[in-house]
Amino acid sequence: MSKRDYYEILGVSKNADAKQIKKAYRKLALKFHPDKNPDDKAAEEKFKEAAEAYEVLSNSDKKQRYDQYGHAGMQGAAGGGFGGGGMNMDDIFSQFGDVFGGAHPFESFFGGGARGRQRVVKGSNLRIRLSLNLKEVSQGVDKKIKVSRLVNAAGVTYKTCGTCHGSGQVTRISNTILGQMQTSSPCPVCHGNGKSIDNRPSGTDANGMLKKEETVKITIPPGVEDGMQLKVSGKGNAAPLEGINGDLIVLIAIKEHDTLIRDGQNLHFDHYISFSDAALGTTSEIPTVTGKVKIKLEEGIQSGKILRLKGKGLPSVNVYGKGDLLVHINVWTPQNLQKEEKKFFENCKKSDTFTPKPTRSDKSFFDRVREMFG
Ligand SMILES: [Zn+2]
Repeated sequence: MSKRDYYEILGVSKNADAKQIKKAYRKLALKFHPDKNPDDKAAEEKFKEAAEAYEVLSNSDKKQRYDQYGHAGMQGAAGGGFGGGGMNMDDIFSQFGDVFGGAHPFESFFGGGARGRQRVVKGSNLRIRLSLNLKEVSQGVDKKIKVSRLVNAAGVTYKTCGTCHGSGQVTRISNTILGQMQTSSPCPVCHGNGKSIDNRPSGTDANGMLKKEETVKITIPPGVEDGMQLKVSGKGNAAPLEGINGDLIVLIAIKEHDTLIRDGQNLHFDHYISFSDAALGTTSEIPTVTGKVKIKLEEGIQSGKILRLKGKGLPSVNVYGKGDLLVHINVWTPQNLQKEEKKFFENCKKSDTFTPKPTRSDKSFFDRVREMFG
C-alpha cells in the first residue's frame, strides 16, 4: 500500500511553518480522536496517520530527511517506533504533552485521562478583578499586579508514586452479580501523573508547594470592555508534582466616568448650554477621555441637537479605528427669573422670532438617534 504524503495528510503546504503544522495536527487529532469516535477503525487509522505525519514534520531532522528522500528516507528512522508499522497509541498520547501543552492540557479536550496513561496535571487558575478607567481603556495600559501564587518550593524532590508505580492509574477489581469487574481510574495519590513527593522542605504543604507573592505584568490592549476576561497563560497556580501552571484570569471592570457615558466604541456627553448661548452661539469645552476639545456652537442651535466628534470615542479590541464622541445639546431653560428678566421674556413673547418653527431639518430627537445607530 502506498503511503500518503505527510503534508497532504495534515493538509498543509510544503513551506508551512512549525506553528501551522502543529495547528493542523491539533485539528485532526481532535477530529479523529478515539474517544470521540469509539469503535471507528477508519477514524483510528486517520488518527494514527496524522500522528505519524506530525511526528516527522514537527522534528526538524526527520522533516529534512523526509523532504529530501520522501517515505524512503524514513525507513528505520531513529526513535518514534515507526517507519514500518506506524506509531502505537502510547507514542501518540505521549506526543500530546507538546501539542496540547501549556494552556490546554489534553484532559480538558478529551474528558479525563481515562485511557490508562499518565495525565498532565494542571495547576488551578487564579482570578483577579482589575478596575480600569476610560483613559486606560482608550490607550491600553501595562499593569503590575501582585498575585499570591502556589509554587513548587525549591528543594522538593520527587519519586515514582508507590500507589500506582508510576502508571498514573489504579485498577480496581470488584465482585458484582455479573462477575468480576475491572475498572481503572486516575491514581488518587498522584492525581494521575505517576510521581509523588520524596522530600519536601519545612513550611510547604503536602504537595511540596507554598504561596509566593509575585508581581505579574499584565498588558491591557486598548478598547477592552466591562466583563471581558483576559488570560495570562501560566501565571496561575503551579501544579503539584511539576505539572503545567494554571492561568491567571483577569476580569476587567470599567470604572464609570464622571461625565462621559460609554456605548461600545462611542461616547456620549450631555452638554447643557444657557438659553443665551444657544441664541447667540458660543464656544464650548467638551471633555474627552484624554483631555478636552473646543467646539463652536452656531447661533440658534436647538436643544436636542447631537454633534458628532469623529474619532474622539474609544478603540475596540476587535475592530480597527475609533468610535465617536456624541455631544447632546441641552438648552437650559432659565428658572426663577428676576423681575427684569421676566419683563424681557414678556417682550420676547411678542416677537415672532420666539415662535417655534421646526422644519424638516430639525428632525425629532428619535429620528436623529435612529439615523446615528441605524
Ligand atoms: Zn500514583
